[in-house]
Amino acid sequence: MTSIQSEEELENALDKCSLLPISEEQEENEEQMVLPDLETAVNCIVCDEICQDSTTCDDCNLPMHESCCEEGVKLCNLCSRRNSRKRNRATALEGSDQQAEKMMKHSRNRFPPASRGDSVRIHSVRE
Ligand SMILES: [Zn+2]
Ligand SMILES: [Zn+2]
Repeated sequence: MTSIQSEEELENALDKCSLLPISEEQEENEEQMVLPDLETAVNCIVCDEICQDSTTCDDCNLPMHESCCEEGVKLCNLCSRRNSRKRNRATALEGSDQQAEKMMKHSRNRFPPASRGDSVRIHSVRE
């Protein structure tokens, strides 16, 4: 243990104290705030009806009816939608990347990079 000699050191020590895990008393208070109904009555993530099945989504672990699962995959509609969107975005990104590259090549050909000292002629539509 190092002895505290300056005010700054005292402050640092106090900072460390505030990072200590919550005391048992505080934990008890938090438990009381949880509503008891939430554990018994849960809504199916897919159809939003009361769900007493023990089936949960493989991805987000939220409860849902066994009948609401897609066949073969235990995914809620949100996760299956998210998964398909992820796939779509990946292919869309690939496509736009290729398109952007093509456009870059195209514009480089049309407008070769100007270098210092080049005279630049500005074309005005009115003249
Ligand atoms: Zn359901
Ligand atoms: Zn899910």
